[in-house]
Amino acid sequence: MSKFKLEFGTGGSSDRGSGSGLLVGLPLTAKSLVLHFCRVFHTSLRRAAYADTAAHFLRWPFMPISTVIPHIRDQGVNLKYILTTHNHYDHAGGNSEMAKTFPDAVVVGGKGDKAEAVTKEVWQDDQFSMGTCVVKVISTPCHTPGHVCYHIHDEEDSASGGNVFTGDTLFVAGSGNLNSGTPRMMHDALCNKLAHLPDDTNVWVGHEYTMNNLKFAVTVEPENEALQNKLKWAQQQRDQGLPTVPSTIKDEKETNPFVRCTQPSVQKWAGTTDPVEALATVRKRKSAWRG
Ligand SMILES: [Zn+2]
Repeated sequence: MSKFKLEFGTGGSSDRGSGSGLLVGLPLTAKSLVLHFCRVFHTSLRRAAYADTAAHFLRWPFMPISTVIPHIRDQGVNLKYILTTHNHYDHAGGNSEMAKTFPDAVVVGGKGDKAEAVTKEVWQDDQFSMGTCVVKVISTPCHTPGHVCYHIHDEEDSASGGNVFTGDTLFVAGSGNLNSGTPRMMHDALCNKLAHLPDDTNVWVGHEYTMNNLKFAVTVEPENEALQNKLKWAQQQRDQGLPTVPSTIKDEKETNPFVRCTQPSVQKWAGTTDPVEALATVRKRKSAWRG
């Protein structure tokens, strides 16, 4: 499912093996169903960015900022950016403390989202770089008014689709709540923006909700073989205490009922030929679904 080799414990990292070395660290085990991922990436120049900080008062299964900071220090990197997907405290609640600890870092967040301590607001197609790594902003308002995703790719590894950090917009086989938007807005985010990234883009989502999402997805498309295979794989991962992240854009296009609201099978299940209506029905029934 994923090209990443993940290491777990108190400071693991994985190397995709490209020339300049885009790295992603996931410094904790994945025993919980509601894991909040710690995400650090850096270049061979030892410049780093961190995506989504959880508030210090949060405890397991979240990754509070107090446990993240030593991990970043251990990596010996120069933290350049603190990336924020949206303003919820389990994604932005550690921004102030992180900014205090790393005063040279720019705290980036979506336009008008009012996330904690943001000093640089960004929106669709804004971009900035760290060495050969380019960070492109994808605006995905809906879960919050200024939710954004960050697509990061290494210019020296142009054959690879890179990595996208999707916060609470896209989950593995699922999607975040439509707190501040409409089904049309989520459809735009998932089907018109994220689904158009290269198939092999690694997808780093905000929470480990995969098993629940996949079990529901199977009720939407019981005949979908890719979905059944993914469910089997995800169950094995979880049985071993391993995460199901990252996913890939290809996997999500093949298995995620929200992304697949454009497909006849999902539309038939939803009783409509309109993808936006189909997404609205998937959302409504998923919210009511209790397994
Ligand atoms: Zn959220």
